[in-house]
Amino acid sequence: MRVAVWLRRGLRGALLAALLLAGGLGWWAWRFRASLQRTHRLGRYLRNPAAYAAWRVPARARCGSAPFLTPTEGYIGYLWGDAFRPGHRHTGLDIFAGTPVGQTPVYAAYPGRLYRLATWKASVILRHDDPLHPGRVIWTYYTHMADAAGRSLVAGAFPPGTQGEPVAAGTLLGYQGNFSGTPGVPVGVHLHFSIVRSAPDGAFLDERRLANTLDPSPYLGFALRADRVPAHVPPTCPRPWALPFMTRGVVGGP
Ligand SMILES: [Zn+2]
Repeated sequence: MRVAVWLRRGLRGALLAALLLAGGLGWWAWRFRASLQRTHRLGRYLRNPAAYAAWRVPARARCGSAPFLTPTEGYIGYLWGDAFRPGHRHTGLDIFAGTPVGQTPVYAAYPGRLYRLATWKASVILRHDDPLHPGRVIWTYYTHMADAAGRSLVAGAFPPGTQGEPVAAGTLLGYQGNFSGTPGVPVGVHLHFSIVRSAPDGAFLDERRLANTLDPSPYLGFALRADRVPAHVPPTCPRPWALPFMTRGVVGGP
């Protein structure tokens, strides 16, 4: 008798747990469906980048009168606010060239001063006066510029420990790589680019938290928020790009 009651209770409990799990998974899939769809679109692009050239943004290009230049060429596969797992939001843009490691250049989006911590293999960060809020300090962060083993692809002009080196917009910073931070566990070849808020003393905040980063849309001049861009729309400038470095005939640098 008592065994039968326990069994019934156990079954009821298991059923409830299964329902909660299914509900949770359903909610997650619904809430983050755009991010899931973007993963699907990115797979399509990476299998044949040449077939989707229209999805790519050019490097060092300006959309309208936006203050920032695009920091690299490629398909913007993930946006600001995308979510891959509960409790985590993507703090920047992931721009995938579709080329092998070390081939696609990465450039400074805006004039500033470059810092590279002594331990950074794949990253640099630039300090700027915020062009949209004069008097505020913001930072632009560029990462994954190393190969799978962690061999750096950052430009030789910016060795580890660089402190406040002045750079012009469009300066070569390095090349797209696939270093995840853990040697031997690569990610897809891309640039992660984010705009980071500063502490009252001007120091950059922890870039891994969404609240410490800014929506890049107004800085680059087109929609780049995960909740504002439908997954079937490649994020790119709706107007013709201005290519300041190309139109001046100075392809090699500013
Ligand atoms: Zn990223």
